[in-house]
Amino acid sequence: MSAPLTIIGSGMAGIGLLKQLRALGVERPVTLITGDSGDDYSKPLLSTGFAKRLAPEKLAARSALEVAAQLGAVVRTHTRVGTVDPQEHCLHIGEERLAYGELVLATGAAPAVPFAIPEALAGRLFTINDLDDYRAFHAALEALARPARVAIIGAGLVGCEFANDLAAGGHAVSLVAPEQAPLPRLLPEPLGRALGEVFRDAGMTLYLGRGLERLEPAGGDVGLVLEDGQGLEADLVLVATGLRPRSELAREAGLEVSEAGIQVDRYLATSAPGVHALGDVACVAGINAMYVQPLQASAKALARTLAGTPTQVSYGAWPVLVKTPLLPVVALPPLQAPARWRIEGDGTDLVAFAEDQDERLIGFALTGACVKRKVELARATPPLLG
Ligand code: FAD
Repeated sequence: MSAPLTIIGSGMAGIGLLKQLRALGVERPVTLITGDSGDDYSKPLLSTGFAKRLAPEKLAARSALEVAAQLGAVVRTHTRVGTVDPQEHCLHIGEERLAYGELVLATGAAPAVPFAIPEALAGRLFTINDLDDYRAFHAALEALARPARVAIIGAGLVGCEFANDLAAGGHAVSLVAPEQAPLPRLLPEPLGRALGEVFRDAGMTLYLGRGLERLEPAGGDVGLVLEDGQGLEADLVLVATGLRPRSELAREAGLEVSEAGIQVDRYLATSAPGVHALGDVACVAGINAMYVQPLQASAKALARTLAGTPTQVSYGAWPVLVKTPLLPVVALPPLQAPARWRIEGDGTDLVAFAEDQDERLIGFALTGACVKRKVELARATPPLLG
């Protein structure tokens, strides 16, 4: 039998590609290898589960066994691929050598933690980037059996969504970040400040404009010392300081890789014949968006290519809907820094237009009641990858 199409990674990109292949009627053998439980789940739901006190199993649409049965694939869970050899068309998993026909890297992105975690605090510090992480944090909250004091480090999309969700779940949230306002990569500062005000009104404590200096044990608590010397204590700490593409396998295999991920063209082809990449690990024609819509478009295009119809991927002007129900936020951040942000609106209902030198719209950000303008403004903004 010929070697199978092998997909590394069972996130939305890996399983999404498998679903698209089967939807096209492609029957070729597929092996899906994953370092985690292999459950089919929607990662965006991870930052909505604590408000509703959702048990981890409620977030999984189907188990790895069901994925294997329903999508007709061999699924290997809790299996870490050690190296890829594109010349020999094989992978190494420990001592095992596994031949592949074609290979797809869908290894996602890993949390980037920019400081050392003291060993004594290991069970108190968390990142949440997959269902297994959610399980671990959920268990730590349950073990406290009371509302927790949670310090969140980082005020980007992941930090802000968990802040809103945990506060809604009755926990006491502190948000620590070096920037002056939340969501610095998605919102111009006045809109970020509006979100910060709403968070404060909801009872959160915001420590902005200073980063974390160090972490230390403080009795039974975690002590956080900030750059200006201020201290705070927490039961648990959630680190949300960004994600980095997991491109080590590709780099070590000699594929073209940059800080932004594995370099692929619009056919999702890497620099090695027979090896493709998509999702958070892939930088497609210079863009690594790290959102669901681009990876879904990539999965559709790649499935067609693998089915015999070479298809380039296109990205539309897709805004990001930030899940902060305390203040709805929608943003389509421009690819390059805008010449200016033009801001309109009152209170927390704000529209920010990102404009280039010629006053053309290249992105936007919306808060509060103004999020209803997202469709109109997305239509007026150039596509991410047209
Ligand atoms: P991942 O889900 O990271 O999957 C990577 C897979 O690769 C895993 O199965 C892992 O085990 C496996 N793997 C890695 N290395 C190896 C190896 N060596 N061997 C074997 N397996 C390996 N996007 C939106 O558009 N809207 C949202 O509202 C939104 N909310 C989000 C909320 C949170 C809390 C987070 C963290 C992200 C959110 N995102 C959102 C981003 C979106 O979820 C991601 O872009 C997407 O899920 C990435 O999927 P992926 O399959 O590329 O990677």
